[in-house]
Amino acid sequence: YLFGKKRATDVAHMVWKHIVQKGDTVIDATCGNGFDTLAMLNLVSDDSRKGYVYAFDIQKDALDKTLLLLEESLDSNKKQLVKLFNICHSKMEEVVPTNAPVRLVAFNLGYLPGGDKEIITRSETTLLALEAAKRIVIPGGLISIVVYVGHPGGREELETVETFAAGMSVEDWICCKLGMLNRPNSPIPIFLFRR
Ligand code: SAM
Repeated sequence: YLFGKKRATDVAHMVWKHIVQKGDTVIDATCGNGFDTLAMLNLVSDDSRKGYVYAFDIQKDALDKTLLLLEESLDSNKKQLVKLFNICHSKMEEVVPTNAPVRLVAFNLGYLPGGDKEIITRSETTLLALEAAKRIVIPGGLISIVVYVGHPGGREELETVETFAAGMSVEDWICCKLGMLNRPNSPIPIFLFRR
């Protein structure tokens, strides 16, 4: 089911579909323009079952864009299932309820498409957020990370994610990396950590 998907984010979405269930709580660690948030909400909720998306971004602009997309795409009842936070994703544990069955934490690293390219995810806070995600994902759940390497700081962040993955316990986690091998300058690796 991976082939036929040209964009890394579409590949990630396909994998989420096989893991996330209706009624789950999921986390969009980098909501940006809101496309991932919307896709996640459609995975956790339908007319009869409610799931929740906790979505984070340090840019108010990004949250406004996400909100607009949700308003255009959803009725107001469904929109309320998305909780938006203008805080760093490393603080996710401060706002996600401790008893929530978090089955997915998704990261889409880098800068906001169409926004300020200087505002990027940074290795130090990405690492803190990955550690938080590792603590809160339930067994059977997934941490998904799409990494862009073309901008300054991108390669360093990739190394941070790879080092983090290499340190995950073999008993508790399966850690995989997918990459577009015929795009050597822009492989857009996707990391999938299944608990
Ligand atoms: N998932 C988004 C979408 O579907 O449109 C795209 C995300 S974009 C590649 C990365 C986003 O991460 C940017 O909007 C940026 O503001 C945000 N970001 C950067 N550092 C962050 C942090 N420490 N915590 C949360 N979000 C952060």
